[in-house]
Amino acid sequence: MPLYEYTCGGCGHGFTLLQSMNADPNDAVCPECGAARATRRFSAFAPSMGSGGSTPAMPPCGMGGGGCGGGMCGM
Ligand SMILES: [Zn+2]
Repeated sequence: MPLYEYTCGGCGHGFTLLQSMNADPNDAVCPECGAARATRRFSAFAPSMGSGGSTPAMPPCGMGGGGCGGGMCGM
């Protein structure tokens, strides 16, 4: 379950919520002022989107890296 970052549209407070992928962003209620007008900012915790450069992943197959030296990549 991904962690979402929200910015409150009422007071500007930033907070995070653990929600399911199809959760309604309007369900996010600011813990500071109680306004339900938060704007979702996608966090770095998205498990299925490997676009970030912060976590070193295994090198892709065919790159000469040591990540798939055991023939597990089917080459
Ligand atoms: Zn607020």
